[in-house]
Amino acid sequence: MLDNHDHRRIGNRLDLFHFQEEAPGMAFWHPRGFAVLAQLEDAVRREMRRQQIREVRTPQLMRVPVWEASGHWSHFREYMFAVDDEPPAALKPVSCPAHLMMARRMALSYRELPLRIGEIGLVHRNEQSGALHGLLRLRQFSQDDGHILCAPEHVVDEVARFCQRLHAFYAAFDLKIASVGFSSRPEDRVGSDAEWDEAERTLAEAAERAGLSCIDQPGEGAFYGPKLEFVLVDRFDRQWQCGTIQLDLAMPARFDVSYVDEHGERKRPALLHRAVLGSLERFLGMVLESYAGALPPWLAPEQVLIVPIAAAQEPYAREVAEALCDAGLRARLDARNESLSRKVVLAHEEGFPFVAVVGKREARDGSVALRKRDGSQEVLPLEGARAALLSECEPPL
Ligand SMILES: [Zn+2]
Repeated sequence: MLDNHDHRRIGNRLDLFHFQEEAPGMAFWHPRGFAVLAQLEDAVRREMRRQQIREVRTPQLMRVPVWEASGHWSHFREYMFAVDDEPPAALKPVSCPAHLMMARRMALSYRELPLRIGEIGLVHRNEQSGALHGLLRLRQFSQDDGHILCAPEHVVDEVARFCQRLHAFYAAFDLKIASVGFSSRPEDRVGSDAEWDEAERTLAEAAERAGLSCIDQPGEGAFYGPKLEFVLVDRFDRQWQCGTIQLDLAMPARFDVSYVDEHGERKRPALLHRAVLGSLERFLGMVLESYAGALPPWLAPEQVLIVPIAAAQEPYAREVAEALCDAGLRARLDARNESLSRKVVLAHEEGFPFVAVVGKREARDGSVALRKRDGSQEVLPLEGARAALLSECEPPL
């Protein structure tokens, strides 16, 4: 049963996205939904810059030898969409191999390390149709996939650096880290036992340095390395696994990535895979549920609905809408033939954080009566309302 906090029901009410049987597990983003997704993507992009990760973009479709080299073809093939082409190829389920191939071409020296590159990568995974669940489990989604190549002695610092940023990012969505899982070697894996010993030891040390106390999750690691997994708790005390950082000592060798150290010797870098959100779509599903659809102003599908009280004020209301759109706000004029109170109720249901009411007096004075979600209202000159809205809608990240 869909309850009122189910993101699929909220998505419907707010007119954000839909699914069709012609593309199972892949969302059709409506204008209002895409506005929210784009805001989230912008926040992720700004966070990448703060973490000094340089953004890249790599191909969707790559030939099978790439996936053989990465190990995905033998360990992850059932989740991959192969394209029956000649030579055969497959859609990427992750961006790591492409990033490693890019790093190999760079002929790195120790001076260029750590190399931090990231991508908001569109990835495809062939999940069973029974496993699909709205935005929470999709076959096509965007991953905030970053990779750090560094000298092995810098791994601990890099992991600690990543962990420090997480609290602030999640707090912007009223989410807190509830626990951190330490996932160690699974049965199905690549790399020698000695490599795994070293990877697990280093990651445990890094977690300690970051001040994290971890819960052991034996056998839960990725096939190429151990991981730290961040479990968030939302406003209803529900838990969600989101961020991750994974230490991989196997993949750089598989793609022959090396760097020249200060003595002119060729060395193998360590690789960290990191994601703050994992899947942007899933994170959004979770945030929609956590806020029960009442997204904070910066993230709301539309931010302000302009409501004229009578038809005579429509031209002025149109001017107000123009001025607010010009300022970069997501504003819309409501010319529906409904009562004011009905329009305010509809605005709430549609997730508007603000309603700007204009009646005879506002049209005469060049002002607006600005209502917030909590019902409070203030009459401001248009310029003042514009400034107030811009400040209220400023992204916290
Ligand atoms: Zn990766």
